[in-house]
Amino acid sequence: MGRRKRERTPPDAPGPRPARRREAVSRLLTGCGEFVSARQLHALAVLQEVDVSLTTVYRALNELEEQGCADVVLDGNGERLYRPRTAGEHRHYLLCRDCGVSRVLDAAVVETWTERVGEETGFAALEHLVQLSGICGPCQSTDPAGRAPGATAGE
Ligand SMILES: [Zn+2]
Ligand SMILES: [Zn+2]
Repeated sequence: MGRRKRERTPPDAPGPRPARRREAVSRLLTGCGEFVSARQLHALAVLQEVDVSLTTVYRALNELEEQGCADVVLDGNGERLYRPRTAGEHRHYLLCRDCGVSRVLDAAVVETWTERVGEETGFAALEHLVQLSGICGPCQSTDPAGRAPGATAGE
């Protein structure tokens, strides 16, 4: 066993402490309103001259998720997108794969089903990740693939 060093935070610790950086990330996330990736949030931090690394952003988002302070969805590429959770309970979302706009869903049926699965299987502390994705109305009318009828081919 090595020497046990007691973790002491000196009053004039250099640089912002982890908790403060997490707070900063949390504030940035709250300011976004929509789902954002860690990369997008880090880009925002750079813009606003908030001194956090991408690694810190990833870690902070992870912690926020674990603490139930953020909702998470996966985008089309499997990247995690985060949004601050305002209500006490987690929510389920419908996400546009084109523009990323999101809507909160009434997913009481998912919660009921989860509870029932727990009762039937004897499993405790069940977790679930349920999300729907599609193409929102505005994105359907501005189809970037140019498949709209009457579009002239440029070749
Ligand atoms: Zn859309
Ligand atoms: Zn749920």
